[in-house]
Amino acid sequence: MKLLLTGGAGYIGSHTALLLLQRGYDVIIYDSFVNSSYKVINAIKSYLDADGIDYKLKTIKGDIRDKSSLDKIFKDSIKEGNAIHAVIHFAGLKSVSESVKYPLNYWDVNVCGTKNLLEIMKENECYSMVFSSSATIYGLTNSVPISEDQKISPINPYGKTKVAIENMLCDLFKSNMNKWKICSLRYFNPVGAHPSGLIGEDPIGIPSNLFPYITQVAIRRINLLKVFGDNWDTEDGSGVRDYIHIMDLSEGHIDAIGFLMSKESIYEVINLGSGKGYSVFQMIREFELSTGCEIPFLIEARRDGDVANNFADISKAENLLGWSPKRSLKQICIDGWNWQRNNPQGYT
Ligand code: NAD
Ligand code: UDP
Repeated sequence: MKLLLTGGAGYIGSHTALLLLQRGYDVIIYDSFVNSSYKVINAIKSYLDADGIDYKLKTIKGDIRDKSSLDKIFKDSIKEGNAIHAVIHFAGLKSVSESVKYPLNYWDVNVCGTKNLLEIMKENECYSMVFSSSATIYGLTNSVPISEDQKISPINPYGKTKVAIENMLCDLFKSNMNKWKICSLRYFNPVGAHPSGLIGEDPIGIPSNLFPYITQVAIRRINLLKVFGDNWDTEDGSGVRDYIHIMDLSEGHIDAIGFLMSKESIYEVINLGSGKGYSVFQMIREFELSTGCEIPFLIEARRDGDVANNFADISKAENLLGWSPKRSLKQICIDGWNWQRNNPQGYT
């Protein structure tokens, strides 16, 4: 089966691509490399080569806003007699703070880019998509665990673009309910790395998320961690989140593709998380225990827009996809540290 992975060179896309290739899928990665490095492609290839796996991977540099370039990919595949069955649509911009500064850019890439892609898919009769949505679309006042039917109320432009895309996908499905097979996966907090240490998360500049910040403190690229508040209404006063191992998340995409292929037509939104909440202090402790690295920290004021407690109800993913996360917080720390230790400066 042939899949197009937009944004397939990014953090989540690269781990998913590697798994798909290992499992015999034919993969095209389409990426502008605006937030990724070509080195990730070489890392994927070297891992598969070392494993003696025969794989079919094509990488194309391009922007999802470029319709003619997208169209050519679909048409070339049809000409080769091996049409694209489905798209996993990872491509997009994902920084909350940047989206506040440059909202038009976020609407252009995320929303207009997705609209372009869907138009080209429709023209080329490819009707299946797994879309990267986000738990950031849930409102701040939801109760935990958060199920898919809870209130949607994004507070930043990034989250608003994800809601707009979900609405567009739902409208498209309703316009032709016999054809489209669409699954929006709402990720919670993807963290960790491939166990080989060859691919992992490589944020540009100072990380804004907790886990890559911790690994960069551990490698001494950053002096200490700032903990945003120790007076939250949680067991130890620090913020609680749902950290999901990147390999569990990647497996969720393969199950989502299998789910779509088993249906005549479908539209679903599905949470992907670990289903468990861990606090910042628990994360620091687990990282120190599993890696032996000390993480010095300082308590700072709360961060704007944060919530105390946020973790997923994953029963829908378990029931519909037959998926469940398998890896522990300890495994997240071990694999994340392995990647950071082997690549102190990331891909650069
Ligand atoms: P990432 O930035 O590592 O990957 C996104 C990829 O898309 C990058 O390789 C980037 O170069 C590419 N890209 C960006 N704009 C493009 C364009 N116009 N045309 C083609 N390619 C383009 O991000 P990620 O963490 O792998 O996230 C993948 C998706 O999952 C994104 O849509 C993101 O919003 C969503 N998501 C991520 C998280 C997270 O915490 N990582 C959480 C929820 C949702
Ligand atoms: N956090 C922190 N210091 C940091 C980054 C994050 O204390 O440098 C806290 C943050 O307040 C939240 C948790 O860690 O309670 C997870 O934050 P992250 O940004 O990784 O995920 P999100 O809040 O977007 O779910």
